[in-house]
Amino acid sequence: MQCVACGRRSSYNRAVVDTVTESEVGVLCPECEHEQFGQMLENGDWTDEECVLCDRDGFYALPAWRAYVVEIDGKRISRSEYSMEPPSPALCDKHYGELTEQTAGPAESPVSPQP
Ligand SMILES: [Zn+2]
Ligand SMILES: [Zn+2]
Repeated sequence: MQCVACGRRSSYNRAVVDTVTESEVGVLCPECEHEQFGQMLENGDWTDEECVLCDRDGFYALPAWRAYVVEIDGKRISRSEYSMEPPSPALCDKHYGELTEQTAGPAESPVSPQP
């Protein structure tokens, strides 16, 4: 799975799930989460289904991945999964588009310093 924002193969952090088709479209890596949202996704209370950045409907949910260990035939196997419970933060199509647009540019483009 690649990060939907930077396109890098990422350690699992959050899944990006299309809430209409309930299919997983990618992941969001920790760097991009912090860059785009800071601590907001971790600390927010997402009981409604609106976009975290505006009040439009959320189309892409960002549930956190959780690692867990199962035992099968005496072997311990680590797996990870995401859960839509409790409610996950979501993005509308417009803000999801803004997040993923960054992949369109060259990967090594210089980052201009913030004023
Ligand atoms: Zn990323
Ligand atoms: Zn939005």
